Amino acid sequence: MLDKNNLPKVAYFCMEYGLDSIMRSYAGGLGILAGDYLKGAKDYDFPMIGIGIKWKQGYTDQKIDKDGKPYDTYHNYEYDFLEDTGVKVTIKIRQRDVICKVWLLNKFGNAPIYLLDTDIPENEDAWITGQLYGWFGEERIAQEMVLGIGGIKALRALGHKIDVYHFNEGHAVFAGLELMREKIEKGLSFEDAWDKSKEEIVFTTHTPIVQGNESHTLDRLMYMGANNGLTIEQLVSLGGSPFNMTVAALRLSKISNAVAQLHKDTANKMWTNVDGRSDIIGITNAIHMPTWVDENMIKAADGNGDLWETHMKNKKALIDFVYERNGVKLDADKLLIGFSRRAAPYKRSNLIFTDESIVEPLLKEGKIQIVFSGKAHPLDDTGKKIVENIVKMTKKYPNSVVFLENYDMTIGRMLTRGSDIWLNNPRRPLEASGTSGMKAAMNGVLNCSILDGWWPEACNHGVNGWQFGDGKGVDDFNTLEELDAHDLKALYKVLLEEVLPTYYDHRDKWVAMMKESILSTKDYFSVKRMLEEYYENMYIK
Ligand SMILES: *Cc1c(COP(=O)(O)O)cnc(C)c1O
Repeated sequence: MLDKNNLPKVAYFCMEYGLDSIMRSYAGGLGILAGDYLKGAKDYDFPMIGIGIKWKQGYTDQKIDKDGKPYDTYHNYEYDFLEDTGVKVTIKIRQRDVICKVWLLNKFGNAPIYLLDTDIPENEDAWITGQLYGWFGEERIAQEMVLGIGGIKALRALGHKIDVYHFNEGHAVFAGLELMREKIEKGLSFEDAWDKSKEEIVFTTHTPIVQGNESHTLDRLMYMGANNGLTIEQLVSLGGSPFNMTVAALRLSKISNAVAQLHKDTANKMWTNVDGRSDIIGITNAIHMPTWVDENMIKAADGNGDLWETHMKNKKALIDFVYERNGVKLDADKLLIGFSRRAAPYKRSNLIFTDESIVEPLLKEGKIQIVFSGKAHPLDDTGKKIVENIVKMTKKYPNSVVFLENYDMTIGRMLTRGSDIWLNNPRRPLEASGTSGMKAAMNGVLNCSILDGWWPEACNHGVNGWQFGDGKGVDDFNTLEELDAHDLKALYKVLLEEVLPTYYDHRDKWVAMMKESILSTKDYFSVKRMLEEYYENMYIK
């Protein structure tokens, strides 16, 4: 049990926070996790503060043009709810002083989050905090220096005493270099500063794809000043060459974690050759229920209310929402499949359309309806092609396939409440966690998913949702085509033989499954359990 009066004070570093649709400071799952985490810290009174960036334009607003292609737009956002702390800290980037103004964000029922902002007249480099993930190379490093180095300086200037520095993703790793610099300045050797800093750093790794883990050439880091006083050799001993942010974070932390149990195995395999790294344990993600879950569904699952009627209210709200946005009138009596993911090849958004001889009759008869959403990264042409292809399907099946442009928390909330099933078909094991499935599960929206991310920990096939693919993944086949063919067959089989018959012919069983979906997930996958595990297994050590 945690002694609540004697908990270490934690500073949580993250590039993005998904707290509310009105604040465009998140791109996807990483930010949603961070937002939910700090809301949970507030709800349960954990001594934690967040460090982030005040993004002037945030992440892309991605819409669809009249030719059915995604395009990106950016807007300047002014937030009148941020409090000016009066604190400014200065860091050196490219030999120039960059002043970071520190704002305090308390608006969304979250533990305090301090946001650094370079957009002030004194700065030649005011645009560093312009766009979240808008650039690569130098600008990304500059942003990460603001978060990491600026973040530590801000904590000092604000007078916060911190026991544990939590780097959520490798983006924050320069904070470790700043912690080391402070110690070296006090006379410690490089090795001693490293050892001492390690005792106060914990790290969460996310992307289980090597290329998704950012790295930078050493000369670029030196030119930017990101070495923060360290020599090239010292940088290499931390992050290798090129300098990998995840590798450095693994070596700079006393302990690390992956975000689901399967992801733990994947991450340990992936980084097995990194010597001197911390252990990667598994702490499965969770969600902030008040943000995502309809409490009437929880009440109904507990026996106080009609589950099906409550669900139908949410489904009709989604159908109205789709009509308002896209002008398409979906049918509340037909199965509605929700699918919303970043448009990346391994997520296979188009998988269900692969064999038209199977899927076309279902769509034409209106036996299934699918609502998609999701953005491609603004610089990812492959991702944009994926979106374009889905939009083509909406033209081909105008009454049964919908794409909601500009995926955000509002769409996420509508879809994970109002769909009947939540489809998820990544190539296993490339989905680290997938919190949208948790939102769905607790809203009585049945998961129909590959056994990836969090789902192996929750799935009771045919009882609280469905799995397909039997846990096969990229290592079980010679080619991705073979894996895709295998999973496709499994998807159609579960859809035709289990999902559709249950939905249309065995409504009682369906409702029983909804109830089981809610009851089997609502405690374990909500933030309290996750926060306690972070304290017990990472912070207190
Ligand atoms: C929940 C959510 C996510 C994360 O979901 P995944 O399952 O990881 O895809 C991303 N974006 C938005 C807007 C969300 O609501």
